[in-house]
Amino acid sequence: MALIVQKYGGTSVGSVERIHRVAEQVADARRAGHDLVVVLSAMSGETDRLVRLAHEVTPSPDEREMDMLLSTGERVAIALLAMDLRGRGINARSYTGRQVGIITDSRHTKARIARVTAERIREALAEGIVPIVAGFQGINERSDVTTLGRGGSDLTAVALAAALKADRCIIYTDVDGVYTADPNIVPSARRLDKVSYEEMLELASLGAKVLQSRSVEFAARHGVPVEVKSSFKEGQGTLVTKEDADMERVAVSGVTGDRNQAKITIVGVPDRPGIAARIFGPVADANIVVDMIIQNVSQAALTDISFTVPRADLRKAVSLVQRVAKEIDAKSVAVTEAIAKVSLVGVGMRLHSGVAARMFEVLSREGVNIMMISTSEIKISCVIDEKYLELAVRALHAAFGLDRVA
Ligand code: ASP
Ligand code: MG
Repeated sequence: MALIVQKYGGTSVGSVERIHRVAEQVADARRAGHDLVVVLSAMSGETDRLVRLAHEVTPSPDEREMDMLLSTGERVAIALLAMDLRGRGINARSYTGRQVGIITDSRHTKARIARVTAERIREALAEGIVPIVAGFQGINERSDVTTLGRGGSDLTAVALAAALKADRCIIYTDVDGVYTADPNIVPSARRLDKVSYEEMLELASLGAKVLQSRSVEFAARHGVPVEVKSSFKEGQGTLVTKEDADMERVAVSGVTGDRNQAKITIVGVPDRPGIAARIFGPVADANIVVDMIIQNVSQAALTDISFTVPRADLRKAVSLVQRVAKEIDAKSVAVTEAIAKVSLVGVGMRLHSGVAARMFEVLSREGVNIMMISTSEIKISCVIDEKYLELAVRALHAAFGLDRVA
């Protein structure tokens, strides 16, 4: 008998029929004799609806109130599933983040988990109850409701699996695993049986929406094996786990395209010590993640600095940067939104050389200009014009031998 944490995403609980399907699946796992903890997202579209509603009320809603609002979506889903299960004679109970002791810091809308007590869950399991837990939410030390960032139900599931030392954490979603590329862009993309935490982290932060990045970080830190599976069809999914020799055999495991970045350029920046710190300090203080940075060779003691930020943070970043630009006497601030980032990811890059050169060659053959480049031990990314993104992803997928052989 195993202890399994199952998490169902928004599409899996998106309607009454789908909630019935989840209830059947939970009932099956129960009949197989497993101890179960179920974590749910809000019904699909609900969190977006609430975000829109908030913005109809006021242009920049207070973040504490935003968390109060957004946390309601998951409460609806858990109550409905628990009712359904109880109607079938299964002893299920719904619990909020607070009730299961998900304690976070106070960074509203992107809180970090500080600890998980899981007391009520242990009690419930001991009594043979199936706990149905609201994902995405916790409370801070003052008991104010917090949320864990979009897609945060994955993190709830992984954190509970770690706290309970569960045998497995299964993330049921609308895709059947992690692919070598987005199948909507590359129809010949293949499902990966296994992927390392590190690769998954790169893939997730690069826009593969299968798992929330933070949940992968957390799983890696606590060694929680995570299985990503389809909630709609039977069969194997992708196991996210520790790196092994299998994974190193190929140079590149996946290709991703990310349209979520925008580029800010500060033109005519005085080239002297302390300027970069003046620019990026306030941006970091605002919790905006800067991805790539390029500084040009200076001419006449002036230089240009370009960097990318998530598009969602663009307005906030630009207003911070404009203020600093004025203070340091820079000439101007320019914004380019129509960029995209194409990346190759693979732990095999540690052993196989020449991957970067090959990537640049493929892009040049397709006539795609590279604006920015960044590399890590297991990733190479290029910023390109957004309109070439799909072309670039397909060409790279084929060139690195990732296409499915028919
Ligand atoms: N409902 C939240 C969201 O849409 C959390 C989640 O689905 O994981 O981001
Ligand atoms: Mg999700």
